[in-house]
Amino acid sequence: MSRSVLVTGGNRGIGLAVARAFAEAGDRVALTYRTGPPEAATGLGCLAVRCDVTDAGQVDRAYKEVEAAHGPVEVLVANAGITRDQLLLRMAEKDFSDVLDTNVMGAFRVAKRAAEEMVEARRGRIVLISSVVGLLGAAGQTNYAASKAGLIGFARSVARELGSRGVTCNVVAPGFVETDMTRALNDKQRAAMLGKVPLGRGARAEEVAAAVRFLASEDAAYITGAVLPVDGGLGMGH
Ligand code: NDP
Repeated sequence: MSRSVLVTGGNRGIGLAVARAFAEAGDRVALTYRTGPPEAATGLGCLAVRCDVTDAGQVDRAYKEVEAAHGPVEVLVANAGITRDQLLLRMAEKDFSDVLDTNVMGAFRVAKRAAEEMVEARRGRIVLISSVVGLLGAAGQTNYAASKAGLIGFARSVARELGSRGVTCNVVAPGFVETDMTRALNDKQRAAMLGKVPLGRGARAEEVAAAVRFLASEDAAYITGAVLPVDGGLGMGH
C-alpha cells in the first residue's frame, strides 16, 4: 500500500537515500530542500518542497504542499541536520544554538506538525536520525552530541505520548556514513574513526535507509521508543 512519506533534508546524503528507498517501494515521497530544487528528486519522482526546518512557518507551508499533493503524512523521517564542530573552550554560543535549533528544534517542528494528522488518523510512523555520537560523545562535538542525545529523549517521550494513538516514534543512530558531512573530515580524522569500527568500514547511506524503512514498515508495528544503531558495531548497542 502506497503511503505519504516526508523526508527532511532529502536532497542529498542519507536523506536522499531514504527518499529513494521509499520511492522504489512504491510510496508517495516528498522531500525537503533549502536551495534550488534537487535534480535527484525529480529523477525519483519525489515531490520536492522548499523548507528550512529552523522556520516553523516554512515547515507549515511545506506540510500544506505535501498534504495537497500526497495526502496527510503517514511516515515522517526527520533527517535534516548540521555540524558546527569546535572544542568546548572555543565553541561560540551561536554554533551551539544553531546546531540545537536545526537538529532538535527542527525535529520538534516537523514531528509536532506530523503528529496532528497522525493522531487524527490513529496511525503513523516517525523516525528520527540521531547519531552514535549522541551516546558516545565526541571531542569537538559538544553541540552535535547534545543535539543527537536530545533526539533520543524526545523520541521516547513522543513514543509514550502517542503510543495509544497507534503512532510509533523511533530513532536510527548511524555511525560513520560516506556523505558530504563526513567528506569534510581530513584523512587522519577519517582513519581514526574507521579504526574503531568493528566492521572496519563506513556505512553506505543505503544501509541507513534500510533501517529507516524497517522501522516504518508493518514488521516494526510493535517497536517504539527504540534506538537502532547502524554503526558497524562502533557503539556496541548504545
Ligand atoms: P549532509 O550534510 O550530506 O546533508 C544534510 C541534509 O540536511 C541536507 O539535505 C541539508 O539541506 C539538510 N539540512 C541542514 N540544515 C537544514 C535546515 N535548517 N533545514 C532543512 N534542511 C536542512 O548530511 P548527512 O546526509 O550525512 O546527514 C543526514 C543526517 O544524518 C543528519 O541529521 C546527520 O546528523 C545524521 N548523521 C550523519 C552521519 C554521517 O556519518 N554522515 C552519522 C550519523 C548521523 P541543504 O542541502 O539545503 O544543506
